[in-house]
Amino acid sequence: MKANVESLIQYEIKKGVISKRDYTYVKNQLYYLLNLDLSMDKIDYIKIDHPSEALKPILDQLVSDNVIEDFKTNRDLFDAKIMNIFASLPSVVENKFHLIKKTSSKDATNFLYNYAKSLNYIRFDRILKNISFDYKTKNIQLQITINLSKPEKDPKEIIAQAKAIQSNYPPCVLCKENEGFSGNMNRDSRDQHRLLELNIENKKWYFQYSPYIYYNEHAIVLSEKHEPMRISKDTFINLLSLVDQFDSYFFGSNADLPIVGGSILSHEHYQGGRHKFPIEDAKSIYELKYGDVNVNLLNWPLSTIRLKSTNKANMIHLSTKILESWKTYSNPELNIYSNTLHTPHNTITPIARFKNGLYELDLVLRNNRTTDMYPNGIFHPHEDKHHIKKENIGLIEAIGLAILPARLVEEIYDLRNYYFNHIPLPEKSMVHKTWFDSLLKKYEFTQNNFDEIIKFEIGKVFENVLIDCGVFKKKDYDAFIKFINGVKL
Ligand SMILES: [Zn+2]
Repeated sequence: MKANVESLIQYEIKKGVISKRDYTYVKNQLYYLLNLDLSMDKIDYIKIDHPSEALKPILDQLVSDNVIEDFKTNRDLFDAKIMNIFASLPSVVENKFHLIKKTSSKDATNFLYNYAKSLNYIRFDRILKNISFDYKTKNIQLQITINLSKPEKDPKEIIAQAKAIQSNYPPCVLCKENEGFSGNMNRDSRDQHRLLELNIENKKWYFQYSPYIYYNEHAIVLSEKHEPMRISKDTFINLLSLVDQFDSYFFGSNADLPIVGGSILSHEHYQGGRHKFPIEDAKSIYELKYGDVNVNLLNWPLSTIRLKSTNKANMIHLSTKILESWKTYSNPELNIYSNTLHTPHNTITPIARFKNGLYELDLVLRNNRTTDMYPNGIFHPHEDKHHIKKENIGLIEAIGLAILPARLVEEIYDLRNYYFNHIPLPEKSMVHKTWFDSLLKKYEFTQNNFDEIIKFEIGKVFENVLIDCGVFKKKDYDAFIKFINGVKL
């Protein structure tokens, strides 16, 4: 165990998380936490490339010594305590970030991102397990990720969680009170989590990285107060302000209604990062001008309006007017109703970026109405695609990156076995039967082409999922064009 502790200390010195000067302090703290005997002996160590390489054997030892139970949760709760010994206090991290940001926001985000990775707050060894590939046709390119970074829980662990005391502190996983929070059986630890205070239009917000990054430098900006998501003029103001503050980061917001929003509606937040999403390359199908703002309707499965200009004020004004118009827009022929009695259905998923000297704001029109025929949502993945994706289509997916469930890996393995080895499909993989039968009519599978074809066809299902979510389908572009021309300034 001592060699692994030494490896970890040397790794953090190499990464600049601590300096050589901190060696004795850190070692004393770690030895006390891990109940190790201190001595003056020199400890040999092995060089590691990631904290998990040292943490795993340390945790294994703690399990065999009966210090912790062998549950993922217990292991994660404990390794956060180990890593927090290396972490500076929030104010120190924040001051360093803002000092670097004065000369380069890119250097500042690089510093924080690497800090979060080095401290294992972003568990990068798990992120690397994800399976990612592109789906390409002559019309569209999409990105697909099968999310394997969240390991399955042990049934015993689920029972332990159910027995654990429930608490409403912090109110949600985004609240600023998570900084340094120890976690428990039901809540992930946030010991080494550090927030950066940001000023956006004279209001206090916080910047952090997502511990479960779905793309490069996946950042989250959250409001100081635990207040519900709300898409309004302020959203457009804030997103464009963030784009100004962070060099070559995009920022977007989930919509503010269930079904079409993300998983957290209770706390106002945005997502950003350094990643090029497929929607960026979408071509225009219709163009018009509102003063110095260029307006394009995009060739994209979800109905999207792109504003481009150097004039932020006019873009904010126009996007607010588009939002207002969309909120009252109904078109019975297309099954679009803005309200049912007093329940609103129309909203927008906005994304902002700065590109080629211009601000860009993509406004994705959303509607969350349900019917008896579509109890999960009319503009939501329809049932025939649920075997691949049934979860909400939030911001990240709306702009072209599918996050698919881990179960797919095993289910595809079952399909392979079914086809090549004639092993009957297990119950859980029967959901793919209709889809797979249709592929059998189309393809001659071989051991060599199987994976490639399956990946392509998963991509195609995702493309159709996005088409389901589009309010104006391709055949309805005339109505889309009429809508944008009808926006009152
Ligand atoms: Zn909250």
